[in-house]
Amino acid sequence: MPQTKRKTPDTKLSQFRVKGEIPVPVLINWLTACAAPLLVFFAWRSDTMQNDPITPPLLLTFAVLLSVNALLYWLTSSKSLQRRGFIALITVLFTYLAVYAVEDGSAILWLFAYPPIVFYISESRVGVTACAGGLAGIVVLFSPLGDLIFDAPYSTSFRLTMIIALAFEMTTCYILDQSRRRSKLGLLKLAADFEHAAKHDALTGLANRREGLEQLEGEYDRYQRNGRAFSVLLMDIDLFKQVNDTHGHHIGDQLIILVARTLREQCRKVDTVARWGGEEYLVLLPETGENEAFKMANRIRLAIEASSIPLDDQTLQATISVGVATTREGESIDRLLQRADEALYAAKKAGRNQVCHYGDADNAA
Ligand code: GH3
Ligand code: MG
Ligand code: MG
Repeated sequence: MPQTKRKTPDTKLSQFRVKGEIPVPVLINWLTACAAPLLVFFAWRSDTMQNDPITPPLLLTFAVLLSVNALLYWLTSSKSLQRRGFIALITVLFTYLAVYAVEDGSAILWLFAYPPIVFYISESRVGVTACAGGLAGIVVLFSPLGDLIFDAPYSTSFRLTMIIALAFEMTTCYILDQSRRRSKLGLLKLAADFEHAAKHDALTGLANRREGLEQLEGEYDRYQRNGRAFSVLLMDIDLFKQVNDTHGHHIGDQLIILVARTLREQCRKVDTVARWGGEEYLVLLPETGENEAFKMANRIRLAIEASSIPLDDQTLQATISVGVATTREGESIDRLLQRADEALYAAKKAGRNQVCHYGDADNAA
């Protein structure tokens, strides 16, 4: 696991949902469930009361198409298909209601439902484009050119009020939508920061002990499924207390950070490096046998020995002792860690700045 990689919220906010937010597919299904009977009702009204031959079949067609769109989502689970289909259908429907002045021209008022829906269910950019296009369309419809083509029956004062009120509503929807998106982004970032803080060590940025254990459990499960052995390296900075006593805790902290950085540089992306305790580290090496783990541990040990931090008139180096343990059939994680700990103890006993296998513990004891 690349322990330095932070999960940050994607810019496509719709992919993430904060608690209490209505999911877009659910909202579209509810809107469809409300719109379909309304369309049937207005189709019936147009048919029986207004003797309009075109509107009833068209409204019924929209009711069917909206239902088909919902059905397709149910079958394919494609959110983008459902969203695009819904926006396209309501755009055409609202255009028809406005241009053909359905319900004695009053159906144009349904346009006010358009901006909040479009802003909620799609990206901000799509909302702005759809609203700007819709407003431009209304301006053209209400212009002398629109009169020439469509002969819409709207009065001048209605046209003026409609355009201004619609522009006002669209602007308000845009501002509210921006504010909603910023709040959501803030919440997602906060959640990501909390998650990161819960899993990482503040001083070194490495995975903390809890996260290290979680990765270890995941690797253990994989090992039980595929039988590919993994290894752990348990490391401890040698004579670290002396560093604190001689140079102070601040320099001690810098040495802990230096060792963490060197470990990160030396390990592979698939490895997990965790700060196990004060000046102890655990490295999890997935799918790595005993010999390879031993070689890696030695390489790490030499790299740490070669690095240093500058002090006023000298440089300060650290050395580490490492205990290596590789999974054995039937043993638990606790037992594996215990063997790594015993190997580390053997390395300390053998004179520090050493790497020991678990078996070496018997020799050193
Ligand atoms: P050994 O080679 O046997 O490991 O000797 P050691 O001196 O490293 O071992 P010991 O366990 O006696 O000392 C560890 C010291 O690490 C004690 C503790 O005060 C210090 N320590 C633990 N966490 C931190 C930390 O975050 N920062 C600093 N500066 N010191 C720490
Ligand atoms: Mg220690
Ligand atoms: Mg130590």
